[in-house]
Amino acid sequence: MRLRNIKGAREAMTESKFVIQNPEQYKGRWKEVFHNDNPIHIEVGMGKGKFITTLAQQNPNINYIGIEKYSSVLIRALEKRETMEVSNLFFLRFDAENILDIFGNGEVGRIYLNFSDPWPKDRHAKRRLTSKEYFARYDQILEKNGQVEFKTDNQDLFTFSLESVTEAGWYMEMSTRDYHNSPYMEGNVMTEYEEKFSSMGNPICKLIAKR
Ligand code: SAM
Repeated sequence: MRLRNIKGAREAMTESKFVIQNPEQYKGRWKEVFHNDNPIHIEVGMGKGKFITTLAQQNPNINYIGIEKYSSVLIRALEKRETMEVSNLFFLRFDAENILDIFGNGEVGRIYLNFSDPWPKDRHAKRRLTSKEYFARYDQILEKNGQVEFKTDNQDLFTFSLESVTEAGWYMEMSTRDYHNSPYMEGNVMTEYEEKFSSMGNPICKLIAKR
């Protein structure tokens, strides 16, 4: 993801009613933000937000929270959000490394990870959103039957992620290295990166992990 410093992006984040400020204050209380008891699904590293904005429109009875580290990217999701008439979608400008600070035990029903940064150097493996360190965090915030859904075109990252799931003591509900030509594809919502890489002919990998 190219990170241009978009003028005014940070200000737009603090002024928008769709971006939750100081999300730590809602730990264990996200239902109050949505004013209902519907399940909460989150996307970590949502980028420009095509995936989560589409899901929010398709599923009004699910609450969505999109998490993105950089204002310069999140502002593109915010532009989409501002054209939408839904009440089930909020964004956080937040580093997921600290995700335990913002969600209580079992508060999240599903976690989506799409085309996460690969961090190819071994010494940065802990930063990968599918590392066993991240699965330990997800284990705390996910409800009992919750799941992590991960898509990528990066074969090495996918191999690493399959190993992480096993090391973390979770199991694979499904996994494929050719998602777009698989029976699981029905109902798929494409992300920006998925559109780009699949149009270049890269096979898309997907796994769903549960414990
Ligand atoms: N999910 C989008 C897609 O598939 O089109 C964007 C993919 S992009 C390669 C990865 C995104 O994850 C970037 O926007 C990056 O800033 C964000 N990201 C990476 N690490 C993150 C973290 N620790 N917390 C929040 N966002 C993160």
